[in-house]
Amino acid sequence: MRLEIDDDTLASCVGCGMCLPHCPTYRVTGEESASPRGRIAMMRDVTELGTADDAFVEFMDACIQCRGCETACPAGVNYGEMMEATREALATQTSYQPTIRRAAYRILGMPRLLSASSRLLALAQRMGVLRLAGSAAAVLRRMGSAAAVLRRMGSAAAVLRRMDSAARRGRSRELSRRCRRFRCVSGRSKRAATMCGSSPDA
Ligand code: SF4
Ligand code: SF4
Repeated sequence: MRLEIDDDTLASCVGCGMCLPHCPTYRVTGEESASPRGRIAMMRDVTELGTADDAFVEFMDACIQCRGCETACPAGVNYGEMMEATREALATQTSYQPTIRRAAYRILGMPRLLSASSRLLALAQRMGVLRLAGSAAAVLRRMGSAAAVLRRMGSAAAVLRRMDSAARRGRSRELSRRCRRFRCVSGRSKRAATMCGSSPDA
């Protein structure tokens, strides 16, 4: 990636840190890379190496461009200009912005298309198409919830089945234990079978 920032501008930051308390992203995160000084250092690295990693994109994207750092800087660093060049390089040389957002931004620069789209939307609103689409979306959402409930009921039924079979196994173990106790496994008497709870004919 190539940043259109000249070396003098990049070197203008003397790293004094006076801007740090004025940077909201630094105050929230406490991370050097989220401060103006850290970002300028990363810009220098990218200019030297010619490549940008995910961390660079993340910290540049997190800058809210309030320019609080510029007014606090005693060295008169033109941070805003550097950030504009960086954002432009990110937008034109990488795909860090999702395609849909890029398309939306592009439309913002086309007033005729924007105005035609607004007229179409207004027409759709008047004809109730949007309300219809909203109702369809609500029905789909409700269907999704019903499917989730059915799935949950299916899981509950499976759990109940498992509990039932475990109870049967427990009951069977208890019967064998009683049979052993009353010695009714072979030639069991009617009295012993009655005591252990099994059928005397079984
Ligand atoms: S423009 Fe604002 S958020 Fe970005 S580095 Fe400067 S003070 Fe921090
Ligand atoms: S941007 Fe300015 S205030 Fe911040 S570290 Fe660099 S020279 Fe100091």
